[in-house]
Amino acid sequence: MAETIFGKIARGEVAVSLLYEDEVCVAFPDISPQAPVHLLVIPRHPFEDAYDADAETLGHLLHVAAKLGAQNCPGGFRLVTNQGKDGGQSVQHLHIHVLGGRQLAWPPG
Ligand code: AMP
Repeated sequence: MAETIFGKIARGEVAVSLLYEDEVCVAFPDISPQAPVHLLVIPRHPFEDAYDADAETLGHLLHVAAKLGAQNCPGGFRLVTNQGKDGGQSVQHLHIHVLGGRQLAWPPG
């Protein structure tokens, strides 16, 4: 498993503004927001992507992401996880994007 910036964030080695944390995951703002609200929820364990992760962790991440979406985006929100080259994944550590605060287009690009 290659070292990634998210692994360092999950271990507390890189400081971010933590919006939520528990024993399984942490959440923080995306450094390059694509919407007025753009948060990331990542597991502490460095799963590479959604396929690599176990169902319990995936469920927990989605639960936390949905809670953060509901708290921060009263009009609605989108949860996204990109996987692999065609999916547009740029950091090889599983993460759930929480996007909202404006009308989101569909289909995505
Ligand atoms: P993806 O392209 O789905 O792999 O998403 C990776 C996301 O991580 C992008 O939206 C980046 O803007 C975001 N990102 C990369 N480095 C950082 C960082 N140090 N802190 C917060 N977000 C980051």
